[in-house]
Amino acid sequence: MAAFTRLLKPSSSTSSLLFKRSLSATSSSAVASDIPNFSDPKPSRNFQWVFLGCPGVGKGTYASRLSNLLGVPHIATGDLVREELASSGALSRQLAEIVNQGKLVSDEIIFNLLSKRLEAGESKGESGFILDGFPRTLRQAEILDEVTEIDLVVNLKLREDVLVEKCLGRRICSQCGKGFNVASINAKPENGRPGMSMAPLLPPQHCASKLITRADDTELVVKERLRVYYEMSQPVEGFYKSQGKLMEFDLPGGIPESWPKLLEALNLDETEVKQSAVA
Ligand code: ADP
Repeated sequence: MAAFTRLLKPSSSTSSLLFKRSLSATSSSAVASDIPNFSDPKPSRNFQWVFLGCPGVGKGTYASRLSNLLGVPHIATGDLVREELASSGALSRQLAEIVNQGKLVSDEIIFNLLSKRLEAGESKGESGFILDGFPRTLRQAEILDEVTEIDLVVNLKLREDVLVEKCLGRRICSQCGKGFNVASINAKPENGRPGMSMAPLLPPQHCASKLITRADDTELVVKERLRVYYEMSQPVEGFYKSQGKLMEFDLPGGIPESWPKLLEALNLDETEVKQSAVA
């Protein structure tokens, strides 16, 4: 825990211009609601953002795109867990049992994996982060809150039937690690909810023969992960809402529709950010 505490202290690097710009977000996007007014940017360090949302919602996709855009690392605790699973140690066997049942790994194991990842990043000069899949319990959120300040929490939302379909369509290239989705989603309007279409995200030819499916992306396990999310992780939304840091974002569709709207909600201009990164 000591390592975790030490490593999560705010870093000193900065991208203050962008920081100010995105944290003063007051978007007029029709899909974003409850956008906090970030009137107190922290120009002395880099972005420290969190992505929340149910399994399959697209946290990894959007967090990774924003990480490329903003120049901060995208740190997904699910990836850290899978890296550990791929090793052959005793911890790996212990983790496989938990993850493949759709349960949460203990807070201690997660803190440990996250500390190591942050330490490795720090030694390479990384600063700031977009956390994906962490915090996932109130206790994780409280400890994170004790050791560093989170600037913005983006809560991605999507219809539950679509979430399950998306999880079942997920594929990973076993060679390059990139994620794809073979599901072609056409959800009908239902109970006042609009219909929704999402085109599959297909792999390039060199990945197509190397696709694997996560062992925990079966219907039974996905439904259990959703149940665990509502029970253990949804309270984290309330935690950040009470701090005025939560930005709710209803995904309007696939990446082509959602990405520009998310940037708009965050008050980020892709071209401007890229130019300022070059300058
Ligand atoms: P999802 O697609 O459900 O969002 P992730 O890839 O984030 O899944 O995580 C995969 C699994 O890793 C989770 O089901 C859980 O067992 C474990 N895990 C990841 N992050 C955490 C965390 N912060 N706390 C506890 N367990 C975690």
